[in-house]
Amino acid sequence: MLRDLGAKLIGRVAPGSGRPCSPVEIALDRVSKRFPAGVVALDSVCLTVRPGEKLVVLGASGSGKSTLLRIVAGLEPFNEGRVEFDGADQAEVPAHHRFAAMIFQNPSLFPHLSVFENLAFGLRARESLEYAELQARVRETAAMLGLSGLLGRDPAALSGGERQRVAIGRAIAWRPRILLLDEPFASLDAPLRASLRDQIHLLHRQFGMTIIHVTHDQEEAFAMGDRIAILERGRIVQCDPPEKLYERPVRRSVGTFVGSPPMNFLPCLVERGDSGVSIRVVGDEPNLLGFQEWTEDGPFSTLKLGERCRRDLGIRPEQLEIASPSETLPTVGDSAAPLARVERVEFQGHERRVHFRLGSNVLILRNLGCEAPREGDFIRVRFDFGRGNWFDPVSGVALNGVENPFASGV
Ligand code: ADP
Ligand code: MG
Repeated sequence: MLRDLGAKLIGRVAPGSGRPCSPVEIALDRVSKRFPAGVVALDSVCLTVRPGEKLVVLGASGSGKSTLLRIVAGLEPFNEGRVEFDGADQAEVPAHHRFAAMIFQNPSLFPHLSVFENLAFGLRARESLEYAELQARVRETAAMLGLSGLLGRDPAALSGGERQRVAIGRAIAWRPRILLLDEPFASLDAPLRASLRDQIHLLHRQFGMTIIHVTHDQEEAFAMGDRIAILERGRIVQCDPPEKLYERPVRRSVGTFVGSPPMNFLPCLVERGDSGVSIRVVGDEPNLLGFQEWTEDGPFSTLKLGERCRRDLGIRPEQLEIASPSETLPTVGDSAAPLARVERVEFQGHERRVHFRLGSNVLILRNLGCEAPREGDFIRVRFDFGRGNWFDPVSGVALNGVENPFASGV
């Protein structure tokens, strides 16, 4: 009731229907799913999607995305855990009573029904409307999605993009409170994908439904998500706003999966001495990267005086800079400037990707200036340790110290 009032006050009233679309909070509590052949598709998944939030689940193929979505929709039984909508357990609630609409990668329109009848399908099934009102609602939905001129067509006479717009229209015509998107744009070309993303954003602004969108495409995830949950082999390993996910991955695998090119990693040997922490690249000839001050809440807080440890340093390509030859480079402080050999320069239009060798490691930096180095050049590379991420070399878990409390993530 209060939620409905809140939705009304902020103007999320579904036009035509006269019914506010009150968004739902979706909570998964330790949900596990094992398929009969022994495949663990979901392993104790905990995830809360806030009312009206656009949450993207990003994961490789086979990580369990579709299974998760089908469980939320009520289409798939599961072995353990609970699914709650606004705090209410959904175990006994059948799919058609969950106010959730789902859109798939390959839209399954009814081939024998016209576009109009496809759009009207969910409305007819859920509401007993007078024909004039039904027609008004269908026309309104068609207008929102640019389908007004296609209402009389059969699905067979539509392009892929038009079919997907009809599928979106059919899903939203009855104003669901939850929209579940299963890689809906994966088979479409880039401009069409961008335009359909815009349409989902507009529909969300208008109706404010809770959205869970699953994809393997990081660009899509960044374009759509208020928050992004990373799914790895059935486990949610991090759920954060896009900026935090990119800047502070809680695991090495997240740093690799998110970002193109991915995060660079350098195996380092870290030693705490009297004047601070010295950091060297592990390799044939240990290469001194620089020094860092030791602090109690820093990434090496557990390191005692005289002790050393192995850590992997993660650096994004844009956090590395080429220092000009005339520059006086700091060797002590929070910056480093090792000498590196350029292996390859890749032209990407808006940037150049400079592949360079440091010891036995090849790293990539993003170069936006017009003075790009050439293959075989020696460059000095500068970066700020404060922006780097430190990882345990065995477990891959981020160890950034207490000032960066990202280790819990979810
Ligand atoms: P995604 O959508 O991320 O590609 P899915 O949720 O479809 O992943 O699948 C997760 C895992 O469960 C995969 O290993 C897949 O092979 C397996 N799986 C999915 N559906 C079934 C099924 N009906 N029977 C057995 N295994 C399945
Ligand atoms: Mg899938």
